[in-house]
Amino acid sequence: MTAETVPKTALAIVFDEHDGPLRVEREHLVATPEVGEVLVRIAYTGVCHSDLHAWHGDWPDKPKLPLIGGHEGAGHIVAIGPGTKTPLKVGDAVGIKWLATACLDHCEDCLSGNEGLCAEQKASGYDLDGTFQQYVVSDARYVTPIPDGLALDIAAPLLCAGVTSWRAIKETNTKPGNMAVIVGAAGGLGHLATQYAIAIGLRVIAIDSGEEKQRMLAKYGVQDFIDFKNFSTEDALVEEVKRVSGGRGPHASVVFSSGAAAYNTALKYLRPRGTLVCVGLPANATLQAEIYTTVCTGLRIVGSNIGNRQDAIEALDFAARGKVKPEISVEPLENLHSVFERMERGEIAGRIVLSCK
Ligand SMILES: [Zn+2]
Ligand SMILES: [Zn+2]
Repeated sequence: MTAETVPKTALAIVFDEHDGPLRVEREHLVATPEVGEVLVRIAYTGVCHSDLHAWHGDWPDKPKLPLIGGHEGAGHIVAIGPGTKTPLKVGDAVGIKWLATACLDHCEDCLSGNEGLCAEQKASGYDLDGTFQQYVVSDARYVTPIPDGLALDIAAPLLCAGVTSWRAIKETNTKPGNMAVIVGAAGGLGHLATQYAIAIGLRVIAIDSGEEKQRMLAKYGVQDFIDFKNFSTEDALVEEVKRVSGGRGPHASVVFSSGAAAYNTALKYLRPRGTLVCVGLPANATLQAEIYTTVCTGLRIVGSNIGNRQDAIEALDFAARGKVKPEISVEPLENLHSVFERMERGEIAGRIVLSCK
């Protein structure tokens, strides 16, 4: 395949103002890759909660407008910018993530593998046009190679939900055989975190609600499921987590909840030297860590947002080896507005993946 086969225009979903119409542009101009860039033909893109925030414009940092959102794209390289030094070739399967570019070589954060903190970072589907389109240009240093044999519809949601949940599990400071509570274990991120945790030998205590979710988690090997709705007080829930974990409490708790309560409850059931990993983003919420207990029991409180390029490679590798599989349903790209509506109503189980073919 050569650059000549790339059409001049293609399908894209564009919005011009926050909460404005998601226009289906069938003749959107396909960008030409410059030096350092590749052009990727997107086969599938996941839809993440952050895409909804970009459309609403309700985060303190505003995205560019007009915008093509999306940051969980999987596809093939169809062209490479002239003079670009890269081991990648036309035809390679690659993924597009939230982080689209960063300096990579002259700030302390990039040099220590924390490129998500780089002051020069730009995000796909936020600062730059993203994956809700058939062709997207990306920094050649930033696309993630997709392993042979990993289906692109499965790879797509792993590029944000997978990387984020894998990174959160890495932040637990645990060893194989340790116990980790996962709060929101059946959700879009939680069901992946559960599988990553089990894959590295952690015993997962899942907190969520409902028999359907319990059945889904049992499929991954979760034996300890706590339905939080069965506990009317925080004390009763804390006692149950401690009982299930043998009395002392779990070694870690990874919280994906969008409510503040779950974070504060976790601080009460963790064992001494236990780690709370905060991943969900409840608005205007505060952690209430009692300083005396935190000091005397050596509790660790860690925030975890996105992973780096190596985390992304690892997140995909688990899936290529059959250890992790996202729950997906595939719909056409044109359904984006309807997906946002269902997301808003909390009706989406697992991840919806849009086909850009
Ligand atoms: Zn995301
Ligand atoms: Zn940097």
